[in-house]
Amino acid sequence: MINRILISACLMGFKVRYNGSEKAPMMAHLLRWQKEQRLVIHCPELAAGLPIPRSPAEIFFADGKDVMRERARIIENTGNDVTEHYQLAAWLALRTAQESGCTAALLTDGSPTCGSQFIYDGSFSGQRKPGMGVAASLLNEHGIAVFSDTQLAELITWIEERES
Ligand code: SF4
Repeated sequence: MINRILISACLMGFKVRYNGSEKAPMMAHLLRWQKEQRLVIHCPELAAGLPIPRSPAEIFFADGKDVMRERARIIENTGNDVTEHYQLAAWLALRTAQESGCTAALLTDGSPTCGSQFIYDGSFSGQRKPGMGVAASLLNEHGIAVFSDTQLAELITWIEERES
């Protein structure tokens, strides 16, 4: 069985980040996976109706799991509370992954939505901390293996082991 992968749209060259940029150009493996029709390209924030560009947002001194359990908020650098938009983004990512039969996700790190190894701490001072964004956390809780964009080698191994 082929393992399908939900992938952050900004990793595939789409300029959907808050500042209107993409994250990285496509890599050879991503090209091959796309030809194999493994990839489900998705931007949770865009799907939830957030605009491009948009104000940077951070989880306020908590993590994505806390936000999804109504124990924390997501705030833009303007002070605007955008928690509900980001919660919707997470649910839409999960629905897309489940409806598309994804078993794994390859997501851009650091984002309050897609971050999986680290997020920013809510002070808007560039301070990182370990933790997951809202979508990464929800996908993980529902049994979808989440990898960050720095873990491509681990994802390759994970797929090879499952499909050998
Ligand atoms: S929500 Fe995810 S896919 Fe969309 S721009 Fe942010 S990191 Fe990229």
